[in-house]
Amino acid sequence: MEPTTRLRSPLKQGTERSDGFWEDSEGKTLKVSASEIERYVYCPMSWRMEIEGISAKGKEVELGIERHQRMHQMIVEKIEAQNAFTRNIVIWSWWFAVVLTLAADTAAFYFVQDGLIDSELASMIGKFLVLLALVWLILAIVLLILPWRRWLGWNEILSSSEEDPDIENDLQPLNTPLELGEKGWLTFGRPEALILFSAIALSLHGVALTFAQNRSLATFALLVLALIWTLLATTRLQAALTANKRVKEKDIEGGLEDLGEIKYSDGGDSILLEDKKTGLRGRPDQITRIGEDLIPVELKTGKIPKKPHKSHRFQILAYLHLIESMTKSPPPFGFLRYGTESVFSIEWNQKEKENLFSVIKEIQQISVEGGAKRDHNRPGKCESCSRRQDCPDRLEFIPTQ
Ligand code: SF4
Repeated sequence: MEPTTRLRSPLKQGTERSDGFWEDSEGKTLKVSASEIERYVYCPMSWRMEIEGISAKGKEVELGIERHQRMHQMIVEKIEAQNAFTRNIVIWSWWFAVVLTLAADTAAFYFVQDGLIDSELASMIGKFLVLLALVWLILAIVLLILPWRRWLGWNEILSSSEEDPDIENDLQPLNTPLELGEKGWLTFGRPEALILFSAIALSLHGVALTFAQNRSLATFALLVLALIWTLLATTRLQAALTANKRVKEKDIEGGLEDLGEIKYSDGGDSILLEDKKTGLRGRPDQITRIGEDLIPVELKTGKIPKKPHKSHRFQILAYLHLIESMTKSPPPFGFLRYGTESVFSIEWNQKEKENLFSVIKEIQQISVEGGAKRDHNRPGKCESCSRRQDCPDRLEFIPTQ
């Protein structure tokens, strides 16, 4: 078949549904990717050539791929630094709590020994702590036996991984409940472990307060322990501050300061967002979180335009719809970045959704009926097109003298 005829021939078989989208003989909506939308809106011939395996050529294309990879690497490093910061802060706060406990114990022992606190009272507090430890122990045993997770519909692994997957990995033995019985009975997980540890800590304090004979030696030992623990906690704080400095450096290097908290970056093998109703699918370069909203980010390389290109805008609209359909929560806008300096915010509303849907339907229709052709009359656009060498529809650009 002639190359030009091939580029205009139908690609798929399908029929139009009552809602205007097109489906195949099995009733599945014809698939359209976000990057296809970008190419189609740029020029239907460019879209069709890509499908036929006629790739974009030129230095700009190679440079774009290289910049994308560099940016992805930078974002991955930033996310790693963020995770290191969170992990170290969490550990520091735990260790600092231990320091406070030891300091409180030291003070209690000192005042008992000094006579400021009546030793009878100290012994009473000790007994009370032992009693409390006993209650915690019973609670831990009850929670261990009963299938309360099933009753409450609580998934321990999911609830912890949402907070921070890295922390979850570090605490894997505690986050994955150990199931000894069936259907949730006899399950030992993080809550039981925490309550059990608290019971042990309380009982130790109680016993020490009640029975410690040489309180001045105990005071000294506790003081030394508190100092050692303070030193250990300081190393974690130092690590957290270093990680935070790395996050800031990556923010400046990649122009990421205003993008919110980046939750995901596409490295080529990442998750595919999909909407079965429209057939739309795609992988945004990044997804960031601002407040409660997940915001798609698309990075474009090359010359920075005064306003976003229409084709790039439609690509972001596609990701906005995908996030809305998957999360059931419409993001208010998406980010279109040109290099590291320029960021445009693309609004998401009903009108833009209709515009997007009409392009998806058009692509599905042209896939079934064929007939892709140049939709503009601008030689300058063809001149800067990365597929011009192979395009039968290209316009010749004659520079003005
Ligand atoms: S060369 Fe011109 S007609 Fe061909 S794909 Fe590029 S922009 Fe479209």
